[in-house]
Amino acid sequence: MVLGDMEDAMKIQECPFCFLDLIIEETYFKRLLNNVLDEDYREEWNKGGGLCPEHALMLLNKGSATGHAILYQDLIENWKNIWLEGNFNCPACERIESNFISSKKAFIWGIKNAPSFKKRFQNSAGLCRKHFVRVYEGLDTDLADLLLKVQEKAFLDLNNQLELLLRQHDYNYQEKKDTKAARSWRKAARYWGGGTEKKWRF
Ligand SMILES: [Zn+2]
Ligand SMILES: [Zn+2]
Repeated sequence: MVLGDMEDAMKIQECPFCFLDLIIEETYFKRLLNNVLDEDYREEWNKGGGLCPEHALMLLNKGSATGHAILYQDLIENWKNIWLEGNFNCPACERIESNFISSKKAFIWGIKNAPSFKKRFQNSAGLCRKHFVRVYEGLDTDLADLLLKVQEKAFLDLNNQLELLLRQHDYNYQEKKDTKAARSWRKAARYWGGGTEKKWRF
């Protein structure tokens, strides 16, 4: 299943690990908001002291006035302990972290044992900076070379698109504009910032 999700991400030229993070975030937020009265969820929420800034904002964007009211009432009750003792443990980050360890293993397994997965990766847009660095760490030479090659190719493509974007912005440019190139500046920034394009947010 993990490999299937990763392949879906590669098909749409997204970082497969960012795509998995997104699935985890969406699933967790949905369950959290639907189960604010569930003891286990509340306990985990209180123990962690709430979400990190990035995830707090993401959850905020989901709306849910009553869900937020209930969740934050719990935290406010203990705010001094949480804020002053700095005992934060964002449950969304925690899930993402433990999932990364197993999905890195699955990724390596897929490259080594599933030719179609390997081929999909070779034709993908590579990984974002954060995930590249973490996946690259400790790889054997063959895999490390493959990772470098895929990334080099992805950046070559991206650079061509950025070139085209700049040409398209020239007032002399007459041809039809290429939409992929027009969006390439966002893609470039996301290699550094991670995440996925807004339109894939489900
Ligand atoms: Zn990523
Ligand atoms: Zn977090």
